[in-house]
Amino acid sequence: MDMQTSFLDRLFESGLLIDTGIDGLYGRSGQFEDVIAAFERLIDTFGGADGAEAMRFPPGMNRAFFEKSGYMKSFPQLAGTVHSFCGSELDHVSLLQCMEVGEDWTKGQEATDIVLTPAACYPLYPTIAKRGNLPKTGGLFDLQSYCFRHEPSKDPARQQLFRMREYVCMGTELHVTDFRQRWMDRGVEMMKAVGLEVTIDVANDPFFGRAGKMLANNQRDQNLKFELLIPITSAANPTACMSFNYHQDAFGTKWGLNLEDGSVAHTACVGFGLERIALALFHHHGLDVKQWPASVRKALWG
Ligand code: ATP
Ligand code: ZN
Ligand code: MG
Repeated sequence: MDMQTSFLDRLFESGLLIDTGIDGLYGRSGQFEDVIAAFERLIDTFGGADGAEAMRFPPGMNRAFFEKSGYMKSFPQLAGTVHSFCGSELDHVSLLQCMEVGEDWTKGQEATDIVLTPAACYPLYPTIAKRGNLPKTGGLFDLQSYCFRHEPSKDPARQQLFRMREYVCMGTELHVTDFRQRWMDRGVEMMKAVGLEVTIDVANDPFFGRAGKMLANNQRDQNLKFELLIPITSAANPTACMSFNYHQDAFGTKWGLNLEDGSVAHTACVGFGLERIALALFHHHGLDVKQWPASVRKALWG
């Protein structure tokens, strides 16, 4: 049995994660949720004085915005769409017949106007663009959403529905790159406070296909993405528990996000993988929270 399977099995046995029969789709115990809630309060204490505007979107987003985002160009393999039955009574009869005999009944499902949110910040850009020019001070937003990615795995740190807490900054290049650096420093400090050793490294997104290789190389060469890594299921391949993304003016141009003087806004976002951070804590300090080091408990629960 490999290490990944055994950590997942231990999480199931302890009840922290609840098996649904699908890899990467888990229930969470009250204890698991309590760790996430405590860590989110820690995020609040680090970010709270910045005056970010909090917004919460549901885990589904407007399909038209999703289409415009270009997600299907870069990550078609990860996307999830919401389909529904939209037929007549007659169609319903054949649907039920189809299910009865175990044939594929999903073919008749039609796309709705909703797709599953792939990253917490996706619904934000069109929302802010609708407001008109950003104020002189730029924009700073605090988001949290369940996100969907079709990447089933036995690695408990790679889930299909997981929560991402994000801060998103809009402004000049200097403004948003300062923001990103500040959160890299804070990320290291926060993880130290909860007893986790981290490294930060340059990274790239898993752009689809052969053309995607070039996009990924370009992203790395330009230092557009960094990750804060913590070993969870493998010491050789530590897991990205935070990411720090600088989009240059790509989202500003795409969505028409402009600064007060009419110039295109640069944007950056910082994401916390909440389940991954909880899993890193359980992996390093044990599955019994009562046994965690006092300093870690104090940082999380005061
Ligand atoms: P990875 O390289 O591990 O696939 P990523 O680069 O795709 O991660 P991002 O797209 O930057 O991750 O997402 C922001 C954060 O969300 C990540 O830093 C990570 O903590 C978390 N995250 C991403 N994918 C998953 C997943 N499948 N399950 C749980 N958390 C995830
Ligand atoms: Zn983002
Ligand atoms: Mg990924």
